[in-house]
Amino acid sequence: MRLTVLGCAGSFPGPESACSAYLVEAEGFRLLIDFGSGSLSALQRYSDMRRVDAILLTHLHCDHMLDACTYVVVRRYDPAGALPPLPVYAPLGAAERIAAAYSTEGEPVDDVYTFYGLQPGTFPIGPLTVTVDRVNHPVETYGVRVEHNGRVLAYSSDTAPCEALLRLAAHADLFLCEASYQDGVVNPPDLHLTGGEAGEAATKADVGRLLLTHLVPAWASEASIVEAATAAYAGPVEVVRPGARYDL
Ligand SMILES: [Zn+2]
Ligand SMILES: [Zn+2]
Repeated sequence: MRLTVLGCAGSFPGPESACSAYLVEAEGFRLLIDFGSGSLSALQRYSDMRRVDAILLTHLHCDHMLDACTYVVVRRYDPAGALPPLPVYAPLGAAERIAAAYSTEGEPVDDVYTFYGLQPGTFPIGPLTVTVDRVNHPVETYGVRVEHNGRVLAYSSDTAPCEALLRLAAHADLFLCEASYQDGVVNPPDLHLTGGEAGEAATKADVGRLLLTHLVPAWASEASIVEAATAAYAGPVEVVRPGARYDL
């Protein structure tokens, strides 16, 4: 299984990164997890943008799904003919949300996407075994655990601390975890993690490696996030970058 970071900027695009989008590949199958603002650009930089086999949207905030709207053009109007409908696993309402953003008339996009509503549970996507569960964020949001050949990638999506996150991340080889907020100050509740909280989750879940993502430099410096995470977790910690690849 290979993870490629397409975009990792938290909440809005950064000067050097699109918003959240992660390509997970195994046995030639390509699952795109989240498709945030600007990430269609990165998808072209690191792969053939037409070669996506499934999409999973963890929630319907713009920074995790907006390029699924612009991607309609790529698939519907390919010069060689429309590409086959693409499975999209997403919270209920994704079809309407994408259609509303795509055109003012709310023109359906079901010629491009076949939607499957997410519910907590485990199911196959291609050769991958995917488990999702509700995490602690103001809209319906799913953290993700992806397993293949005994290796485990866990992704927090956006969340404040919660038990579901620990279950999803349990003993993961790679734990891709958001860290948006500054430690040591009062942050809005039930929204995001601090670096310290990401580190605590990594320790409690006993993961092999912590990959920090969804940083928002305007809210907390990278140095302070890393310092807080490494104080709470003794294993390897790094902040992901666009284009970074991890084989597991
Ligand atoms: Zn976000
Ligand atoms: Zn969000």
